[in-house]
Amino acid sequence: MPEQAKPGEKILRGIPVSPGVCKGKIVRLAQPEQRTLCTQTLTEEELPQQVQRLEQALVQTRQQILEVQRKVNEGLGSADASIFDAHLLVLEDPTLIDEVTRCITQQKISAEQAFSQVAQKYSATLSAMNDEYLRERASDMRDVTERILNNLLGHEDEIDLRKLPEPCIIISYDLTPSKTATLDKKKVLGFATDVGSKTSHTAIMARSLRIPAVVGLKDASQRFVNGQFALLDGYNGLIILNPTDQTLFEYGQLVRKQVTFQEKLSDLRDQPAITLDGARITLSANIEQPADTEAVLASGAEGVGLFRTEYLFINRETLPSEEEQYQACRQVAAALKPHPVIVRTLDLGGDKFLSHLQVPVEMNPFLGWRAIRYCLQEKELFRAQLRAILRASAEGNIKMMYPMISGLPELEQANALVEIYKSELRDEGVTFDERMDIGAMIEIPSAALAADGLAKRVQFFSVGTNDLIQYALAVDRMNEKIAHLYEPTHPAILRLIKMTVEAAQRQGIWVGVCGEMAGDPIMIPLLVGLGVHELSATPGMVPQIKFLIRRMKLSVAKELADFALQCESGSQIFDRTEAYVRTVAPSLFEA
Ligand code: PEP
Ligand code: MG
Repeated sequence: MPEQAKPGEKILRGIPVSPGVCKGKIVRLAQPEQRTLCTQTLTEEELPQQVQRLEQALVQTRQQILEVQRKVNEGLGSADASIFDAHLLVLEDPTLIDEVTRCITQQKISAEQAFSQVAQKYSATLSAMNDEYLRERASDMRDVTERILNNLLGHEDEIDLRKLPEPCIIISYDLTPSKTATLDKKKVLGFATDVGSKTSHTAIMARSLRIPAVVGLKDASQRFVNGQFALLDGYNGLIILNPTDQTLFEYGQLVRKQVTFQEKLSDLRDQPAITLDGARITLSANIEQPADTEAVLASGAEGVGLFRTEYLFINRETLPSEEEQYQACRQVAAALKPHPVIVRTLDLGGDKFLSHLQVPVEMNPFLGWRAIRYCLQEKELFRAQLRAILRASAEGNIKMMYPMISGLPELEQANALVEIYKSELRDEGVTFDERMDIGAMIEIPSAALAADGLAKRVQFFSVGTNDLIQYALAVDRMNEKIAHLYEPTHPAILRLIKMTVEAAQRQGIWVGVCGEMAGDPIMIPLLVGLGVHELSATPGMVPQIKFLIRRMKLSVAKELADFALQCESGSQIFDRTEAYVRTVAPSLFEA
């Protein structure tokens, strides 16, 4: 894919987090606190557009001020409303507007840069005046400047992602997982953010929704203008502004190749995930909402290895009732029967917040009151969820697991609560699966190190590598600045997984991996070689993982894992496993 921009194009590089290619107009979302204006010299051809943007922003601002004035007039009376006359005068000041226009054309800068520069000069001069009336005009100036800049930067955040007028590519500083969950797939062709990394929940959600996405673009959101035409390449993490016909043609070919490959993969849908030397791996899918079951069935996954129940709680004003949660779990279990569905109890916190739950702001949310820690204290909320999951277990093959277990006491407390609610349900005559399997997620290093004790108290482990890596390596999984340190093949990570597998083997229980490592083909030989029994990935990746498993050998995977366990260098481990995957499944690398 393009190493260099063709004449007239601009390429911005970020982290590819959700595969696919799309092209369309850009819509930029607001990020009011990010007010560092890009200092970029524009080309001669771009200048008329900037003057036009300035004029549009002035008209828009005038309408807004008139509207505010009308409301103030109704509510407070004409005296208060008249203060806005001064604001309107600023907007109509020909000297100011001429100066901004001159700045754009002479200095070749954007409308917002030019306006901000001139407005700052004006308000500094007014503030220094002896005359009180004129000094007050400085504050009018600042107020109006703020509005105009907001309009120029698209910072009003009034864009309702559910009601976008036409298909577009969303560009923003950040997108919360809850906002991502509301994206209308028909309208949002793709999205790109300044921050984030592969394992942020926003990225996970994008993969789940199958929306091509690029994150970690640093200050890219400030470099775009609404309405610009761009191509987003979610395979390689690129945004190409004003792509040439040649680039569009090359990408058209790439997309066609991908479609053909996907068709080939779909032939494997009903085939088992089995290595050439006969090792059978369970391949499951991760889901965020009941509607995802369709994608699970289409992917050929053998059930759900992780149902992130948080998304039943977000984007709403109240908590979901026990009945609602029961219906959601029942629906998934019934649709996938007889395959298992592993429901994870609520993992609130970290980057997943619920606005209506009044959770205090914390210094370190990923280390704070999160997941099982939260549920063990919020007993009523936990009770409703545990009862809902237990009830749904009567309707299909449901298993349940707890997130963020750090040691024995949490696991024992949670298990004790399950026993209490089981006996409640028995008393009420409600049926449930008495033998429903319960698992612990291994996503904190202490859990891997103390896995022996945990293994005695559960029926399976599921390794949450997204968090395990962030905690073991002390690398915030959201922070694009340190994304290079987030290293799944770090020897420490592979040893922690090995310890988990060995502890499980000693107790005769099985181990799955449901973090994003299980959806990365390069990691598969290592995980299989380390003795993992189940892999759970986003439905979109399941066919590719199956394709790879059916072309690799357990014996080679074991050799790779043995090498990795005595190797000192994460990059050497990566290179070796990548070389193997490239040899046996080169088509996985063709994007
Ligand atoms: C993990 O941490 O790997 C995991 C699967 O859980 P989540 O990504 O939801 O934190
Ligand atoms: Mg986790």
